[in-house]
Amino acid sequence: CGIVGYIGSRDAIGVLVSGLKRLEYRGYDSSGVAVAHPNKTLELEKATGKIVELEKKLKEHPLFANIGIAHTRWATHGVPSEANAHPQVSFDGKFMVVHNGIIENYVQIKNKLKSEGVEFKSETDTEVIAHLIAKLYKGDFKSAVLATLNKLEGTFGLAVLCADEPETMIGARRGSPLVLGLGSESEYFLASDVAAIVDYTQKVVYLNDDDVVVAKRTGYEIMTVSSHTVNRNVEEIEFDA
Ligand code: GLU
Repeated sequence: CGIVGYIGSRDAIGVLVSGLKRLEYRGYDSSGVAVAHPNKTLELEKATGKIVELEKKLKEHPLFANIGIAHTRWATHGVPSEANAHPQVSFDGKFMVVHNGIIENYVQIKNKLKSEGVEFKSETDTEVIAHLIAKLYKGDFKSAVLATLNKLEGTFGLAVLCADEPETMIGARRGSPLVLGLGSESEYFLASDVAAIVDYTQKVVYLNDDDVVVAKRTGYEIMTVSSHTVNRNVEEIEFDA
């Protein structure tokens, strides 16, 4: 339902939670966040119910990081539960994914992955994305994501983190909205709706269908799922909060 992502030098949790709250009006049944650490580990926290429930958990177990992704879920596949909340995690723990939309061919992918020994922890269509990226990963985060997106049918707005590349956040969309926000000091945002990030920036790039964005503190690149680099205009948004 709602996606927020951040890479920069601010406290990521503050940015992500405030962004999720901006998207609450859209409705949701659960929420979650994941962050990446320089020591190549990922951490996540999820909760069912309102975002205050997630905040309670984050108070008990604070996550200190400058890069992270977050989600509010409106269940389409699988009941509202903590296991089904996003981020969904790959079998090796190296990738965490938040996803809006519906993967139409998830049953086929799931059956194939199961036959290869992958254990599923949720009932979501989203979980196949995390496992596929891990399966197709040969040391390059971007390539693994592109290869995965080429196997998906249906709709997605998504954001992904990789433990091995804790300085990189990848976003992509097809049929579900996703914008890249350009902050002031080497920082980038992802959001399914500009409302989530207008407190931080008015400079955005509206991604096209089949665009993939790779954001690092040093800059960003946008390419199509078929790996062609593209230029998208940076727009100044006017937003009445
Ligand atoms: N299809 C996904 C799920 O059920 C994403 C739902 C959403 O867009 O929030 O987990």
